Amino acid sequence: MVGGLFHVIDTREFDRPLLDQLCALTTRVRGLAKTQEGARALQALMPQARAMLYFPQPSTRTFLSFNNACHVLGIRTSEIRDPATSSEVKGESFDDSIRTFSSYVDVIVMRTPEAGYAARAAALMDRIPRPVPIINAGSGKDQHPTQALLDIYTLQRSFALRGGIDGKVIGMMGDLRRGRTVRSLCGLMKNYRDVRLVFIAPEPFAMEADVKEELARHRIPFTETDRLAEALPALDALYVTRMQTEWDTAGESSAMDYRQFSIHPGNVGRLPREAIVMHPLPRGPEIDPAVDEDPRAMYWRQERNGMWMRVAILLKIFRMEDRLFELAAETPPDGPDPA
Ligand code: ASP
Repeated sequence: MVGGLFHVIDTREFDRPLLDQLCALTTRVRGLAKTQEGARALQALMPQARAMLYFPQPSTRTFLSFNNACHVLGIRTSEIRDPATSSEVKGESFDDSIRTFSSYVDVIVMRTPEAGYAARAAALMDRIPRPVPIINAGSGKDQHPTQALLDIYTLQRSFALRGGIDGKVIGMMGDLRRGRTVRSLCGLMKNYRDVRLVFIAPEPFAMEADVKEELARHRIPFTETDRLAEALPALDALYVTRMQTEWDTAGESSAMDYRQFSIHPGNVGRLPREAIVMHPLPRGPEIDPAVDEDPRAMYWRQERNGMWMRVAILLKIFRMEDRLFELAAETPPDGPDPA
């Protein structure tokens, strides 16, 4: 897909050159933002642009990081977080609401509890005379592409001195069945050579068949296990997820045995010294806060990476990347990630 990026809906649409470009852009932009002059230049990039943040589903990180990513670039933001404050309560349809937002802004960032709604909004845009890009900031249980992009950035940055993501063994643990972050991340794995995946979950929360079929189609090897302790020594990265309790219909989440599926000071040492522990956050009992002190804990840095990757996505959508690289030309490349 390299070249243009308009809507961001599903990670399966991304190719390696585009991922590499977005990661390079992310590193450049965060380097530039470190100086007062660079930060001012970024703010002046798109003063005429406006963004709608439509988040009827709860969000802390994704909302705040998109909001602040817009402000880094001087983009003004409007928001609806509570559908009770929109004309949807008067019976306005989803399509009409989205079309209305598009009348006032240049990009719509949206998170909905329903799967497929971002794709539906993008299809609507493609039919109207003045379409604006749609960014999926989480759609039901199916996709969370910008999370997966920041996860790729975190993996690539963590393994920068060890050949990047190619050849790495990535474990995913927790509620894999209902977790959109792991589904989205799996959708990007076809872009990396010799990656192996290890799904660590009890059977009721195992990864869905459609994701496994897609991995098989792309010949990405994966194994499934419910034995965390045995899996840990072979991993380069462990991606931990929380129980998606909001999807419970009869208390299913209470079946999770955290004694077997959590990472804590007693087992984190089984990971190789150079491995990393990731989590999209918010966390529950699946990561003991004491692990925060372990050098392998990467989730807080992963969280910080999110805003910068979202700045890069906006730059790419608005075709400002060349302008950014011009601005950054005099700024030396960013150094290693601060702790
Ligand atoms: N924040 C992520 C999401 O919105 C992960 C989670 O909530 O478990 O999907």
